[in-house]
Amino acid sequence: MKVYIMGSDQRIVRCARVSFAKDNEVDRERDIKLIKYLLSHRHASPFEHVIIAIETPKSFWLELMEKVDNPAVQFYYSGGYVWFNLRNFINAQEHLPIHEELKAHLPATTDLIMGKEPQNYSTDPHFLKEKIETSSGWIGLVDKMEFGTDMDYYTFIVECPLFVARQWHRHRFCSYNEVSRRYVDYEPDFYIPEYLRKQAKSNKQASLEEPIEEPWNSLFLKKIRWYIQDLRQLYSAMVEHQTAKELARGILPQFMKTRFYWTVPRLSLDNFISLRTHEGAQKEIREFATIIKDVVGHRRTDKRLKL
Ligand SMILES: Cc1cc2nc3c(=O)[nH]c(=O)nc-3n(C[C@H](O)[C@H](O)[C@H](O)COP(=O)(O)OP(=O)(O)OC[C@H]3O[C@@H](n4cnc5c(N)ncnc54)[C@H](O)[C@@H]3O)c2cc1C
Repeated sequence: MKVYIMGSDQRIVRCARVSFAKDNEVDRERDIKLIKYLLSHRHASPFEHVIIAIETPKSFWLELMEKVDNPAVQFYYSGGYVWFNLRNFINAQEHLPIHEELKAHLPATTDLIMGKEPQNYSTDPHFLKEKIETSSGWIGLVDKMEFGTDMDYYTFIVECPLFVARQWHRHRFCSYNEVSRRYVDYEPDFYIPEYLRKQAKSNKQASLEEPIEEPWNSLFLKKIRWYIQDLRQLYSAMVEHQTAKELARGILPQFMKTRFYWTVPRLSLDNFISLRTHEGAQKEIREFATIIKDVVGHRRTDKRLKL
């Protein structure tokens, strides 16, 4: 029985700190304190970005599923491996009979879960190798664990406008951690399209690759820039005058950029690529899906999803 891990103690911390846009900041002592805080306050989503794969016969998975009486726990079986994330491990550890073997491979966070001082605090080999720009933001592959199964896993960082993030987050078979404008008050960055695309006639939700007529295109773009600048100033003034960030953010328009970590299994990733490279998808998200396809490929495992 072999155990493989994608992610680390540091990855958990980065995914937690992205809330306040400080995922670049790492420090062992502070990180351990943060992990303790996350555990004691049930801020569990950052633990979803550490993925565990156990090479084992299917019978092990079936035994496990029989024991775990908790509908929130998800263990998957694919290609000769049982797959789960650290959050599931925390919720079901008492049912993992291979606890000792598994423990040796786990991040030090699991010592904390068991009330011990953490050993072997694990770090990321690298933060982010490459940022690939799109017209509305950027994306970078953080990590991957590939064995050629439907449940191979990938972690990306994405920066995109709010409306793209809303479309992205409709994909639920995966995990997200995102910057929170309840915490941060740095000056927001906005996407402004090169030109205003025309509404498509044949498809009520689509656009054409051509600009609306002049002078409207230039005039509206000028106004958009002007309003955004005005809203930027209003936002800063509101924050300066003690307005809670959670309220002040209400005036920031959908062109504002957000940033999130995305950890996704291959099946869901292929589904994302199929749906979001399709000509019916919005141009801005199509650009991201095309880059993902170029970086990690499209294996079409989603053909198995009938609906
Ligand atoms: C062009 C386009 C237009 C869209 N328009 C709208 C819109 O107007 N409004 C809107 O709300 N959404 C809209 N969506 C979002 C769409 O309905 C899906 O939520 C989104 O594409 C995610 O797809 P998914 O559910 O297959 O992916 P995931 O949520 O990642 O799920 C992956 C797979 O897991 C399974 N699955 C996941 N959750 C469940 C569940 N609860 N029950 C059963 N099986 C499940 C399914 O097989 C699914 O395909 C649009 C999407 C596209 C591509």
